[in-house]
Amino acid sequence: MKRKTNKPATLGVHAGDRKKLGDYTPTTTPIYATSSFFYDSAEEIDKVLGNEKPGMIYGRFGNPTVQAFEEQVAALEGADYGIATASGMAATHLAVTGALLDRRKSVVAANVLFGQTVAMLEKVMEPFGVETRYADPCDLDAFEAVVEKAKPGCVLIESISNPLLAVPPIDKIAEITKRHEAQLVVDATFSTPVLSRPLELGADVVVHSVTKYLGGHGDVLGGILLGNNESHQVNDYLIKTIGSNFSPYDAYLSMRGVKTLALRVERQCRNAALVAREVAECEAIDRVYYPGNPDHPDYETCVRLFPEGMFGAMVSFDLAGGRARALAFLESLEMSVPATSLGDVHTMASYPPIASHRDLAPKQRQRLGIGDGLIRMSIGIEDPSDIVGDILQAVERSEQIAAAAVAAERQAAD
Ligand code: PLP
Repeated sequence: MKRKTNKPATLGVHAGDRKKLGDYTPTTTPIYATSSFFYDSAEEIDKVLGNEKPGMIYGRFGNPTVQAFEEQVAALEGADYGIATASGMAATHLAVTGALLDRRKSVVAANVLFGQTVAMLEKVMEPFGVETRYADPCDLDAFEAVVEKAKPGCVLIESISNPLLAVPPIDKIAEITKRHEAQLVVDATFSTPVLSRPLELGADVVVHSVTKYLGGHGDVLGGILLGNNESHQVNDYLIKTIGSNFSPYDAYLSMRGVKTLALRVERQCRNAALVAREVAECEAIDRVYYPGNPDHPDYETCVRLFPEGMFGAMVSFDLAGGRARALAFLESLEMSVPATSLGDVHTMASYPPIASHRDLAPKQRQRLGIGDGLIRMSIGIEDPSDIVGDILQAVERSEQIAAAAVAAERQAAD
């Protein structure tokens, strides 16, 4: 696309696509299902392998379909480069490894993160000597005090935290990180480039689980890392040696997904605002977590950093009645999908203690504020009346189911 723009709706549809092939141009990038590439002369092969001439040579070093997807998302993020990976976790692992390679082997991470990211830090990184300390990125003084003490090589935060939807001021965290000469890695899965472009706010590297909003249709497992030229060499070297590459088939589906990202996210944000308003009226719901509520502690940060009226499309809430009620709620849904993912076109519900935060000990979950009745909803693009109707009927029906389950348990114990 020759036109200069930074508008996500336009970039999603045009960026990375329509590369000339000989004397014709495909309107969408085809799937290059090939593991290697060759040239007319051995001299050219030598030059491409030696990085003297740009070109495709081997799937782990690059693939045209994957590259087109990387260019598409890099344009949306305002990044110099993108590296697509086999999953969101692979992207996070790559980003943290890349940040630490030439720096102090320690991390300061947000105190509330996706459960498996915490597991990666504690069960994979720590045995290799990488120490992690946790701090609340919404409390800037406390966060800086921990960074000052730890002198980390990498600071790791989420743009909207999973599952309690805290929204740290990325620009302020970037200032702290720069003052202490660390790299800031932002997992922006929940915000998407439609809401925020963390590189423009001072982050060094951004990662997404492509499995979520970017793919958007529940048919892809993938991730992507995005950055500016300074971090390109190290991360490019890592993907080529570690080999957690994205498949061209999944890249094709993901490109298709990203073309409607802006439309989907706008609609999902609108639907989420309505859900948050309606569930707040429910007696059985003790607390709603939605950063678009003016009484949410990070509301002002969202207003400052996100486009007007957009607060993300996730809504979490505490159901009175704890685990039994929460599980009954999942079983009572008639339309929303009770599956362990988010960001898809369909509304989804998950119970973090058995899903995203399963790896954490109950005490650790309590400390993070993840209660026994917490439900996390990823709001889809369906008609808003159907989403709200489904949630409200499930809240109501779950009361009877949970009461029956508790009575049956008591009877069995007697
Ligand atoms: N980051 C966040 C915020 C997530 O919610 C998830 C998965 O739920 C991941 C990363 C990991 O993504 P993936 O499942 O694609 O590895």
